[in-house]
Amino acid sequence: MPHQSITVAGVEVFPLCDAVGPMGASIRRPLPEMFPGGCHGESDEWTLHFHCYLLRDAAGRTVLVDTGIGPEDSPAASWAPVPGALGSELARVGVSPEEVDAVVITHLHSDHASGAVIGGVPVFANARHVFQRSEIDAAAEDVLARVVRPLGDRVQVVDGQADVLPGIRVFHTPGHTPGHQVVQVGDLVLTGDVVLHPVQLADPKVPYLYDDDPELAAATRMELLERVRGARGMIATAHFAEPFTMLSPA
Ligand SMILES: [Zn+2]
Ligand SMILES: [Zn+2]
Repeated sequence: MPHQSITVAGVEVFPLCDAVGPMGASIRRPLPEMFPGGCHGESDEWTLHFHCYLLRDAAGRTVLVDTGIGPEDSPAASWAPVPGALGSELARVGVSPEEVDAVVITHLHSDHASGAVIGGVPVFANARHVFQRSEIDAAAEDVLARVVRPLGDRVQVVDGQADVLPGIRVFHTPGHTPGHQVVQVGDLVLTGDVVLHPVQLADPKVPYLYDDDPELAAATRMELLERVRGARGMIATAHFAEPFTMLSPA
């Protein structure tokens, strides 16, 4: 059952389900090890969803947030459950890759960035690709070579807060990676990997094993969730089973 779209501040937000499944054995750990100190239920198994999002504003302009796992030979293939289905998900909502006006990559991990360039060729040929400068500065050489350089002059580097389109704004949210960014539309924040699992809603201090800087990630998460809760807003997550989660003041 495909996830349904919602409309926020005049922008339609389509969840695109790139993949569903557990992490591969190479990096899989029981949940209490992945999220130390979190309050876990019966199951130790984490079935992740991998969500990208397509935003379409009232003028018909489109912004893709994250590009998913990518094809079978993607670097994410070593740990992601299946190849990414972003292409067919985009087709399902009636958008061709050429029609995408802008791509925001929340961070350069292989499950978020690997659908942008396939076989050395930019997939979203007419889109600018928005990155935080600190993410590019911290990127490994192989990631620059595979994802960033092939985009050529489609790369748009920003520092901190910036408008992608009027009303669609990125914010620098470091911790999971140095240049992680989220996207905000009205009271909806597309959180990338600032929040990985619902246990971190119950307690935002709970770190994630694969956070680059767990303390900074926790501080960023607390600040962001508090801000969204204060506005009775909503988050759109990358890895929860349901794409949208309402937040009300604690
Ligand atoms: Zn990540
Ligand atoms: Zn992720």
